[in-house]
Amino acid sequence: MSAMLDSQRIQDDTRMECRICWYVYDPDPALGDELEQIPAGTSFTSLPSRWSCPQCNAAQEMFLPLANE
Ligand SMILES: [Zn+2]
Repeated sequence: MSAMLDSQRIQDDTRMECRICWYVYDPDPALGDELEQIPAGTSFTSLPSRWSCPQCNAAQEMFLPLANE
């Protein structure tokens, strides 16, 4: 029933998808978020609370975990 972010499903390597614009946050160490000065390899749950979707500015709770392939 809860629409809250289920952090228990989010692991360090879990990719997170914005459900507004489908931007994918990927904690892959080869990537990172230079615009927001996020170190590469930062897991979604370790992002600073000010972080929001770089494309549409959606809050973190608008992101859903992507299943690992
Ligand atoms: Zn977005």
